[in-house]
Amino acid sequence: MSFLYNLCSSSSGNATFIGSQAEGFFIDMGTGVRTVFRFLKDARIDKKAIQGIFITHEHSDHVKGLSTLLKYLPVPVYATRGTLLALYEKGILHNGNRMIPLNGPADIGRFIVTPYATSHDAAESVCYQIQEKNGATAAVCTDLGYVSEEIEAMLSECSTVMLESNHDREMLRNGPYPYFLKKRILSDSGHLSNAQAAQTIQKLTQGNLRQLLLAHLSEHNNLPSLALQSSLSAVGEHPCEVYVLPKWGEGRRFFL
Ligand SMILES: [Zn+2]
Ligand SMILES: [Zn+2]
Repeated sequence: MSFLYNLCSSSSGNATFIGSQAEGFFIDMGTGVRTVFRFLKDARIDKKAIQGIFITHEHSDHVKGLSTLLKYLPVPVYATRGTLLALYEKGILHNGNRMIPLNGPADIGRFIVTPYATSHDAAESVCYQIQEKNGATAAVCTDLGYVSEEIEAMLSECSTVMLESNHDREMLRNGPYPYFLKKRILSDSGHLSNAQAAQTIQKLTQGNLRQLLLAHLSEHNNLPSLALQSSLSAVGEHPCEVYVLPKWGEGRRFFL
């Protein structure tokens, strides 16, 4: 049975595994080799079962473990052309790595993984929809300034949605960040606030939503209880489980 496992989720590191013991892949690699191998050992997943790593964008909280991991686990890296080029220019990817540019759905084992463009201050950022062939559909959607109609339609097809709920607007406004950074986060190419996430979640309650995972919480400008409160109100009476992803994975698997 396929599941989603989040290894870490915050402004300092993001990485998610999707698959089963037989096969699977990562989305982003913002954590170290040791964390990845501990997860694989605990979940009894063989290294050979890992088919690739999908990258959303080149910001360090999504790729800081990538180049070292590829030395131990030389799997293909899937990303948009813009992201691959940015990673190459930063020296994170090199000619020895297998780079697979995405311009549409990727067929990977039991899954179809489709990139959707996000508005974020990176070269060519995306979020991903993951469709298990003859099975459930999930989304991993973080680092976006606003939710486009296209992304909203994509999310409404999914039963498991991992969605950014980055900051509480008041905490951010009154918090310690310098003005330029506050402006960046609040902009259309920044991050989703709890209120923006809630607006989207409310619309998703008309669709297939069954598991909602709140992701990429800011460590300085949010509280898990604020993100949860805002999403719970948005979910209303819709039958759906809501879960706030902690900074470090707690061993919980979300079956698709
Ligand atoms: Zn990020
Ligand atoms: Zn980012």
